Amino acid sequence: MAKNEQRCSFCGRSEREVAMLMTGLNGNICNECAESAHEMVRETLKQKNKSSLGLSMEDLPKPKEIKEFLDQYVIGQDSAKKSLSVVVYNHYKRLLQKDMGDEVEIEKSNVIMVGSTGTGKTLLARTIAKKLHVPFTIVDATVLTEAGYVGEDIESILTRLLQVADYNVEAAERGIVFIDEIDKIARKSDNPSITRDVSGEGVQQGLLKLLEGSVVNVPPQGGRKHPEQKLIAVNTQNILFICGGAFDGIEKKIASRLNTKTVGYSASKEVHKIDRDNLLQYIAPQDLKSFGLIPEIIGRLPILTYLDPLDRAALRRILVEPKNSIIKQYIKLFAMDGVDLSFTDEALDYIVDKAVEYKLGARGLRSLTESVIMDYMYTIPSEETDRLEINRNIVASKLDKNRML
Ligand code: ADP
Repeated sequence: MAKNEQRCSFCGRSEREVAMLMTGLNGNICNECAESAHEMVRETLKQKNKSSLGLSMEDLPKPKEIKEFLDQYVIGQDSAKKSLSVVVYNHYKRLLQKDMGDEVEIEKSNVIMVGSTGTGKTLLARTIAKKLHVPFTIVDATVLTEAGYVGEDIESILTRLLQVADYNVEAAERGIVFIDEIDKIARKSDNPSITRDVSGEGVQQGLLKLLEGSVVNVPPQGGRKHPEQKLIAVNTQNILFICGGAFDGIEKKIASRLNTKTVGYSASKEVHKIDRDNLLQYIAPQDLKSFGLIPEIIGRLPILTYLDPLDRAALRRILVEPKNSIIKQYIKLFAMDGVDLSFTDEALDYIVDKAVEYKLGARGLRSLTESVIMDYMYTIPSEETDRLEINRNIVASKLDKNRML
């Protein structure tokens, strides 16, 4: 061993034994030690940046990544997907913000999604839940009524969140709640009844408290509060609320707003062609107000997004494209019996045509497909068949037999 040979001050290996040796003032480091040092620095910094969430910025799924994930399960609805992806990403950032130590406070942006029934609101919420690292729950606003009436107290919304968080209050306090059918608690202004609007404004006031961020006492088992029950205090400040509703008839309000606005439009030379088949895309906060949501609630749901109506092409895609599409599910069911199930394009078109004809939307696709292959699901397992092709004639005969559809 040569006397003056340089060695790595960390592992002791000589210059000849390593690919590269870097020389410092009082020592040397070889390429391998430099790499492990780099790895250690990265890990340590990552740990330091981790908040109580157990995540660092680097671990967060980026909005594009979230949307691409949603694309695998939900057809179309790009606008809602983008808003949800950004909102969820920002929710994480909010949870991490304490670590930054400056004075800018990122406020929470609750969301409201408007879209006809069966266009994928709940599906979006359920799918995004798979990608989340925080407790998530879906609750239905229809069961909520004002205190003193039959139904559930508004605080019970948080019971479910506590349950999915295994009663870990801290975890629940950074969760996400999807409130379905939010339109059902709209004030019915033309309600002729002089009795109190139990499912209207009072509930909205209660909900406002949750959306704003406050400490509420939650009944751990849900339902009504009763005096003997021990309540759990939950701070809603960091809980993200995503609301969804069909808002039946809101198109009329949008149309009338757009019509009033058209006056004076020509003067500005800007000619906007209104797509009358999809008025929801023009939805604005004032339409929610006309529908019966109180302005304070609307103010607490700053992100307003919409779902497109599902046209024929979308329904056709829904049948086959999503990762767990209806057709894929039946193919799997038959495959478990060793049967290779297939559908001809014309057969699928026929199912879609019927769903459109009966105005059943995406929900109808399942029941229609089910009634087409129900008999086969009954007989095939006991038969020696290993192939089943569903063609247009089969679909037509099965569906036309089912008068109920
Ligand atoms: P909503 O909550 O808007 O009333 P859902 O999300 O419950 O509607 O949709 C009902 C069913 O219809 C879903 O389970 C799904 O199978 C199907 N569906 C609806 N919209 C879509 C979509 N955009 N992409 C894929 N499937 C959809």
